[in-house]
Amino acid sequence: MTNVQTNLPHSAWFPLFADLHGRNVLVIGGDEVAARKTERLISAGASVNIIAASLHPRLQQWQQEGVLNWLSKTLTEKHLSGHVLIVVAVAEEHLRDTACSWATQNNVLINVVDQQHASSVIVPAVVDRSPLMVAISSGGNAPELARLLRSRIERSLPAHLGPLAELAGSLKAHIRERFPSFPQRRKFLNWVFTDSPARTVQTGRLDDAKQLILDALKKKQPATGHVSLVGAGPGEPELLTLLALRKIENADSIVYDGLVDERILEFARRDVHLIDVSKRPGQERVSQEEIHTILSQRAALGERVVRLKGGDPMIFGRGGEEIAWLRSQGIPYDIVPGITAASACASYAGFPLTQRGFAQSVRLITAHCERSIDRLDWRALAQEKQTLAFYMSVGQLARIEERLLHFGRPADTAIALVENGSRPQQRVITGTLGQLQAVATQHAVQAPAILYVGEVAALAKQGSWFGNEALTFHEPKETRAIA
Ligand code: SAH
Repeated sequence: MTNVQTNLPHSAWFPLFADLHGRNVLVIGGDEVAARKTERLISAGASVNIIAASLHPRLQQWQQEGVLNWLSKTLTEKHLSGHVLIVVAVAEEHLRDTACSWATQNNVLINVVDQQHASSVIVPAVVDRSPLMVAISSGGNAPELARLLRSRIERSLPAHLGPLAELAGSLKAHIRERFPSFPQRRKFLNWVFTDSPARTVQTGRLDDAKQLILDALKKKQPATGHVSLVGAGPGEPELLTLLALRKIENADSIVYDGLVDERILEFARRDVHLIDVSKRPGQERVSQEEIHTILSQRAALGERVVRLKGGDPMIFGRGGEEIAWLRSQGIPYDIVPGITAASACASYAGFPLTQRGFAQSVRLITAHCERSIDRLDWRALAQEKQTLAFYMSVGQLARIEERLLHFGRPADTAIALVENGSRPQQRVITGTLGQLQAVATQHAVQAPAILYVGEVAALAKQGSWFGNEALTFHEPKETRAIA
C-alpha cells in the first residue's frame, strides 16, 4: 500500500468508535482474556460468535444465557466469514496466522490481543461515562502509560457526566432551536455543563436539572452568577480536592488571597479574571466590605466566581461573613472545604495531632494580635494532653510563651513551628515551650507559620519525611564554639 503524500501530520492509527449493535463479531479463544474482550463486545451490543477448545466459566454463562454463540472447537476458514470484526485471544500462532491472513485478504478488521503489529484495529483503554466515552491509546507502544492516563482521567471526570451528557442530548434539538447561532449555543451549553444544571445532576436530581435548563431556555438566558468559596489547601497543589480543581478550572473569575499558592492559579482558564485581594500596591489590604462588593459585581455579570482561600475557607477565613453577605444578596453559593494548615502542616512535619496517651483533643486558635490573645482562656489552654495549633501567631510568640507558662503548662512541653508547610521551602523548628521565643528568633521564623504546643510536637523529629530535617535550638555558647 502506498501512502498518499500530503502536508498533513501523520498519525499512526485512525481513531474510531464502532456501532456493533446486532453485528457479528468473532472471538477466537476461550480463556480469561477472551472473556474480558467478549464482555466489552456484548456490552456494546455485538452478536458474538466464539471459537474455542473450551470456555471460561463466564463465557459458559453467557452461552447459557443466549448472548453468546459457541460456533466450534476448532477453526476453519468457513467460520471466519460473515463477521465485521475478528478478535484473536489465543496464543497458538497457527490460529492467529490463519485468521490474520484471511482477514487481510477479505478486508475484515482484526484485533490480535496485545499484538498491534498483527492487528488492523486496536482497542483503546476507555473511561466510560456513557454516552460520553474517552478512549486512550499509545498505539501499543506504552500500554502502561495509557493505563496511567486512563486512571487520571477516570479520577478527573465525575460520575454524573454520563447522565448530564444524556440530558443535554435529549434537549439538543430544543437548545439548537432557541440558540441557532453557535457562539450563543456554546455559552448556554457551557452553563449547562459546568453550572447549576451540572451541580443538580451531581446530587442525583435529574428532573430538577432538566427543569432548570427548560426554564433558562424559556428566558433565553442562563440563571444568574454563582460564587463558590473554595479551600486551596496549604500550598502543595496536589492537596487540592478534585472538586476544588474543577471549580478553579471552570471559573470565570477567581478572587484570591495572598496565601493561595501561585501554582494553583495555573489551573485556571487562560481568559479567567484573576483578582488578588491580598493587597494593593502600596496600600492597605482590601477590606472585607470591598471583597463583598467584588463578589456581587462579578456574580451580577453571570459569572462563576471562585472565592479562593488558603487552607479551609471556614477556618479563620472569614467564610461565615461572606456566606452571610451572599445570602443577603440572594446570590447562590456553595462551599468546597480544603485542608486546613493545622492538619496539613502536622502531616508534612510528620507528627500526629492526636495520639493515645499524649493528646486527646486539638484546638485551633487564632493569635494574630494582642487583643485576640487577651481574650483567650489561658487557664484552659495550659491544660496538658491537648494539642494547641496557633494560626497567625508569628508576631505573638513571646506572649503565648509567657501566658502558657504563667498558667502552668510545663516549660519542657514540646513545641513545633512549621513555616510554609507543604511548600518546597518548608521549615520545621522544634523545641520546648520555655525556648519558644528564643528558637523562633534564632531561626528567624516568618509567616505563614503555624505554632503547635503539646506533647505530640516532640514526635516531629522522628516522623520527619518531607523537606529538610527539623531545626532545633542551639545554646548561644555552643554556637560560638562551632563558629
Ligand atoms: N483558612 C486558612 C487559615 C487562614 S489564617 C486555613 O484553613 O489554613 C492564615 C494562617 O494560616 C497563617 O498565618 C498561618 O498561621 C496559617 N497557614 C496557612 N497556610 C500555611 C502554611 N502553608 N504553612 C504554615 N502555616 C500556614
